[in-house]
Amino acid sequence: MEKNFYQFRLPELESYFQEIGEKKFRATQLFKWVYGRGIVDFQKMTDISKTLRERLPQMLSFHLPPMQRRFQSKDGTRKYLFDVGDGYSVESVLIPSKDRLTLCVSSEVGCNLACRFCLTGTQKLKKKLDMASILGQYVAVSKELRLEGKKITNIVFMGMGEPLDNEENVFRAIEILHNPLGFNLSRKKITVSTAGLVPKIPLVTKAGVRLAVSLNGTTDEIRSYLMPINKKWSLMELLAACKKHAEEARDKVTFEYVLIKGLTDSLRDADRLYDITKDIPCKINIIPFNEHPGAPELRRPSEEQINAFQQRLIKKGVHVLRRRTMGDDIFAACGQLTSAQQREKIF
Ligand code: SF4
Repeated sequence: MEKNFYQFRLPELESYFQEIGEKKFRATQLFKWVYGRGIVDFQKMTDISKTLRERLPQMLSFHLPPMQRRFQSKDGTRKYLFDVGDGYSVESVLIPSKDRLTLCVSSEVGCNLACRFCLTGTQKLKKKLDMASILGQYVAVSKELRLEGKKITNIVFMGMGEPLDNEENVFRAIEILHNPLGFNLSRKKITVSTAGLVPKIPLVTKAGVRLAVSLNGTTDEIRSYLMPINKKWSLMELLAACKKHAEEARDKVTFEYVLIKGLTDSLRDADRLYDITKDIPCKINIIPFNEHPGAPELRRPSEEQINAFQQRLIKKGVHVLRRRTMGDDIFAACGQLTSAQQREKIF
């Protein structure tokens, strides 16, 4: 039966070729054609024998999740809707900045972690994406960009779903993104974001990619209210795991901190945020909450409060950046991603 090429890592494709009675170096040839040159037509793979070229279409396909829709924001952000089978879809977001083109990919349909501020979290986990559907988001968007003479420079696992809840498929996809015969992306250009699945943080360290942590609370009380996962692994446990990662990876952790009016935006919060992160090599991204109908009780703070919060941290010497709100006119901003089916119910 025909198999999907995008489901294979190199050693697995080598074994597959051996199983079908072919030499294993065929796998490397195929990787070079597909990932290196973007060719998926076997007939164009001229260093492969004619007999094998005729045989391969019955053995391998190049199935990508079909792109159902594409939205363009006035600020340059693009959002893509992909069909991932079984009637489900996920969103990926391409975010341009001065020197980067970052693709934010999804790893699950829905999410069981139910963070209060997140639109994806209003929908229970429906499906963990397989490696081909995760990688497929990158491949499909890269293909489109190639026609415009552009390239994705960074990839972040911050779309729909908790990546460390689907770690096997996420890290398999990362292997191809990083592999020199795959997309050859530097590990430092790949970021995995977690809501705090503490025991799985060492997997990020082992993969050598960057770690981002969705922090969003400076006390267990507030964090547990916003992110129920905190009841399982407390703030102390999470911060200890982050410190260990930063030391072992010799890399800064990125803390994402959503500013929500009356909940996380006071100057006392800013002081506490400094206190709990000061011993961890890190930078902090503050993200003013993007209001959406999935969380009507949560509000965005005033500009004055956002600035005061940021200034308080800057004065303490914290490396703090305010994340620009990108793509909010197409509901592509942080916390606003959801599947088409769920969006119809909410909006
Ligand atoms: S923020 Fe991430 S972990 Fe939390 S519910 Fe949303 S997708 Fe899941």
